[in-house]
Amino acid sequence: MLQENAIIEINRQVAPGIYYLRLESPGIFSRSHPGQFIHINLGTTYDPLLRRPMSIFNAEEDRISVLYQVVGRGTEILSRFNPGASLDIIGPLGRGFEIKEKSRHFLLGGGIGSAPLVYLAHQLHRENRKAIFFLGMRTEEFLFLKEFLPSDLEFYFSQENSPAGHPRLITDLLAPHLESPEKTALYCCGPEGMYRQIGRLCGGKNHFSIQVSIDRRMGCGVGTCLGCAVKVKNPPREEPEIVRACVEGPVFPWGEVFANEL
Ligand SMILES: Cc1cc2nc3c(=O)[nH]c(=O)nc-3n(C[C@H](O)[C@H](O)[C@H](O)COP(=O)(O)OP(=O)(O)OC[C@H]3O[C@@H](n4cnc5c(N)ncnc54)[C@H](O)[C@@H]3O)c2cc1C
Repeated sequence: MLQENAIIEINRQVAPGIYYLRLESPGIFSRSHPGQFIHINLGTTYDPLLRRPMSIFNAEEDRISVLYQVVGRGTEILSRFNPGASLDIIGPLGRGFEIKEKSRHFLLGGGIGSAPLVYLAHQLHRENRKAIFFLGMRTEEFLFLKEFLPSDLEFYFSQENSPAGHPRLITDLLAPHLESPEKTALYCCGPEGMYRQIGRLCGGKNHFSIQVSIDRRMGCGVGTCLGCAVKVKNPPREEPEIVRACVEGPVFPWGEVFANEL
């Protein structure tokens, strides 16, 4: 983990309330892996006191990028930084996605949760692995994401407000692809309701491995404050244990977090 003063190259609105931030950050770039995150300091005083966690959206040529949605004070402050300014960031943090030795790789993103999967899509592409990207969203607000993905990547999307007969949920997209006996790795980032639905759909099929990125409010981001506790169960251990999303996560095997739902 490093602390860097990263120079902002781009901080541009790409859809209503959604910004693409690209930073010159050679140290963090060279150590990062898909699914990890950075922690951004937004003030020069003690206000705002806490850094804000953001997934690494992509990493190339000494740059890392972030895709963020303005939801409150911190992200609103971030949206006002101009190119040329520097940001105090620490990273890469946490444990990212483990790329499995499977014949197919399914990336399932819900809304802004899709951000770390773009980096993963590029990594799988570099490794010549067969991948499909599934994007679930409310309307069409995240369709621009396709521009950031490898151009020949197979891509499907669902919209909750679709007319009848069109896919509304990410599971509508996924279901037809589950008939094949091919060994498949699923990498998911989005709301926990989505993870439950995906788990139910794949339940009992042991040729699927599912990883999920767990979103928790974070204080320190480095394992000290214990603010991002997650209850996990790692069979054959009987009792669940409490771990930190920022260090032991944010990516976990599906079964460890949703064990009681198996
Ligand atoms: C590991 C990790 C990676 C993340 N990656 C991204 C990313 O790539 N892009 C992105 O846009 N956001 C990401 N987030 C969420 C992001 O950190 C929060 O949206 C941000 O900290 C909000 O700061 P704020 O000051 O603008 O909002 P606040 O004023 O702190 O909160 C505004 C609203 O957002 C909600 N909120 C704040 N933090 C979170 C959170 N962690 N999860 C869910 N809701 C939250 C609050 O409950 C409140 O309703 C990530 C979070 C984690 C833990």
